[in-house]
Amino acid sequence: MARTLGASCRICRREGVKLYLKGIRCHTVKCAVTRRKFPPGMQSWKGTKLSKYGTQFREKQRVKRFYGVLERQFRTYFNAAEQKKGNTGETLLFLLERRLDNIVYHLTFGLSRKHARQVIRHGHIMVNDRKVNVPSYIVKVGDVIKPVNKEATINLIKTHVESSKGRSRPSWLDLNEDALEGRVMQLPTREDVSIETQEQLIVEHCSK
Ligand code: SF4
Repeated sequence: MARTLGASCRICRREGVKLYLKGIRCHTVKCAVTRRKFPPGMQSWKGTKLSKYGTQFREKQRVKRFYGVLERQFRTYFNAAEQKKGNTGETLLFLLERRLDNIVYHLTFGLSRKHARQVIRHGHIMVNDRKVNVPSYIVKVGDVIKPVNKEATINLIKTHVESSKGRSRPSWLDLNEDALEGRVMQLPTREDVSIETQEQLIVEHCSK
């Protein structure tokens, strides 16, 4: 599986927003975006103005990095969104929101999206009572997501849920904390998309 390597906080500072790449630290005052509100690197102090291309490019990079997908996979999502009826930008965001790693993160079974991917890859997660170890699995309405029935896994997921108390959860997902069972209640709407973005800029960039 391809991974983004490098310092996570530098990526957030480059994009100028919290991308929640590090888990619990992201929700504390130690977050680098909160403490150092400028991009990394010496040149960043000059505050250069972005071109139209640069603005579109940064918008795409921000969304891509937020969901933790690489360029080729992002293009695959974009092509799939283009094939579907409706607003391409919104469809793209909905596809990204419905990835299993994003769901596992929202259900607090993982501390970050990257961590959620690891939890899935290690075979800790079931969808509709079948083990799924593919982080890019796209969930549907009615899908039930829960840890596999092993004591070690259940204890592990319990600690993740416990340490993520207070983190908000989108209304399209439901979690029964006692049973450790998440359910997809409906498909996400534009308001449910977790990152602020102008998706039209991404469509313009990817359509070139
Ligand atoms: Fe980003 Fe988290 Fe680092 Fe803050 S702590 S800069 S949100 S990775």
